[in-house]
Amino acid sequence: MENFPILIILLYFFRNFSIFIDITNMAPYHKDKWVKYLFGLVTQTLEESVNNEMIIEQLKTMLKPTQINTNSEDLYDASADRYKKYAKARKVLDVPSPLAIVYPDSPEQVRDLLVFCNTNQVNVIPRAGKTATEGGLENWKEQTLVIDALHLDRIINIDTYNMQATVQAGVPLQELEDALRKDGFTTGHSPQSKPVAKLGGLVATRSIGQFSTLYGAIEDMVVGLECVFPDGHISRIKNVPRRSGGPDIRHIVIGNEGTLCYITEVTVKIFKIYPENNTFYGYLIKDIDTGIKILREVMVNGFRPSVARTYSEEDAAQHFYHFHKNKCVLLFMAEGPEGIVKATGEAIEQAVEKFKDGIIEQVDSKHIENWFNNLNWSQQDIDDEFEGMKEHDSHSGFTTEISADWSTITEIYHNVIKRIKEDYPRYHDLTLLGGHSSHSYINGTNMYFVYNYDIHCAPEDEMRVYHHPLQRIIVEETLKLGGSMCHHHGIGKFRNEWTKMEHGSAYYMLEKLKEAFDPNGIMNFGTIFPQEEGKKYQ
Ligand SMILES: Cc1cc2nc3c(=O)[nH]c(=O)nc-3n(C[C@H](O)[C@H](O)[C@H](O)COP(=O)(O)OP(=O)(O)OC[C@H]3O[C@@H](n4cnc5c(N)ncnc54)[C@H](O)[C@@H]3O)c2cc1C
Repeated sequence: MENFPILIILLYFFRNFSIFIDITNMAPYHKDKWVKYLFGLVTQTLEESVNNEMIIEQLKTMLKPTQINTNSEDLYDASADRYKKYAKARKVLDVPSPLAIVYPDSPEQVRDLLVFCNTNQVNVIPRAGKTATEGGLENWKEQTLVIDALHLDRIINIDTYNMQATVQAGVPLQELEDALRKDGFTTGHSPQSKPVAKLGGLVATRSIGQFSTLYGAIEDMVVGLECVFPDGHISRIKNVPRRSGGPDIRHIVIGNEGTLCYITEVTVKIFKIYPENNTFYGYLIKDIDTGIKILREVMVNGFRPSVARTYSEEDAAQHFYHFHKNKCVLLFMAEGPEGIVKATGEAIEQAVEKFKDGIIEQVDSKHIENWFNNLNWSQQDIDDEFEGMKEHDSHSGFTTEISADWSTITEIYHNVIKRIKEDYPRYHDLTLLGGHSSHSYINGTNMYFVYNYDIHCAPEDEMRVYHHPLQRIIVEETLKLGGSMCHHHGIGKFRNEWTKMEHGSAYYMLEKLKEAFDPNGIMNFGTIFPQEEGKKYQ
């Protein structure tokens, strides 16, 4: 018993315990149990701390001091992404911080880091622009390294003859876009996070941009890439216009969300840009069903406006406050060479004419153009929102994005809204519930459910009380009718409970990829693939 003061001091030191446990007057049986438990904790803590130190020491043999970040504020920031941003802002995150953030500057350094982590069972979270929304950057392991692409920041080649650009994974999309625009070219990729998101992350999440209906999503743009696997193998997929050399292996990497490999370099297509021809169309419409019908009409007739969107009245009210008149909104943008823009514009007008009973009025196209020009989020906007969350107990602009074919998308939309209104016990806390379709294809479209709410619970419970039950309704109603539960944000960590349902019998293929490329399970634990151990953080 004379060891007790030391035991308690050690515990306090290592675990930052704020309560002391007085066991001196306990019954012998309970006393023994406590002694064993407390000694166990101390031993475990000592082992962990030694290992953690060893990991940092090993990192120092591989990298320069400036490539290793152990600043506690940065580690706290690295322990979660925007999914738990309210809890993060309020400093009540329930997840461990990573041990370090490292900044390799070559594929070889990435290889060395991955091999080290693979050999020592250290979890790895690949990181690029930090704009993840679904928990892809959240840490669920005690021993984790964040491998950040900050120093993989070179634009390697812009080849305007073969219409492709090669960049390292840490190049911000905006930087590449700015470089291309100077010479009249574009990536055609324009997610709202364009000023901040980086190529590695954009490819890893299968992202999509606002002009996707013309240019496609990232998977249509990636020509070739380089990536590193946990066993240290570096693969380069060459840049050719097409191939039929077996399955298209680019798609093993695109969308892997850091769970199979680390992307170090990407080559994307580029396009000529004709901003002088841009044409905008906007309409107030009776209901979202009319909007979906018109989107379909344009698409199935073979036209590709760069933007084709329809908004519910609730969602329209928060986007188009200057003209919405409490109605649904339909809008288009046509771009490209003059003849194509003209033909696309005529097709839009014909589609609108065909469903004219659902049209209330056309709006000034300047409104649509202005709105587009101010749509993207800068790092300052992201920081301001984060700061705001420290003061305001409300959450604006939470989203869940799904997709389905033309026959079912409207039914899914109405089923979700009805079920939330009828079944969700906190419905009265919602300050907005609606959605929009923003990416269309010949066989269907997406639906971006949007919900804002006032938070009437402890900050650490917010996701469990509000976002997750709402997301559950959206995912369940979508899967029930054969849609996809995630259209472009990836699965992250909080839709992983439905990954098997999303893929059905094809989950077999996904699981085998994980077993083959990451047999020790060190790549982004809990992302995409469901994990029992991670449930405590959900
Ligand atoms: C304001 C805002 C607007 C947004 N708008 C859109 C939008 O319009 N369209 C859209 O698709 N998304 C959008 N998003 C979501 C987000 O921007 C995308 O998911 C984006 O692709 C993430 O890129 P990133 O560079 O920030 O990656 P990060 O957030 O750093 O990482 C995202 C995921 O990719 C993995 N990853 C990162 N780098 C690598 C790498 N080098 N190798 C392997 N895996 C890696 C991470 O582990 C993580 O799982 C938006 C987000 C915000 C905050």
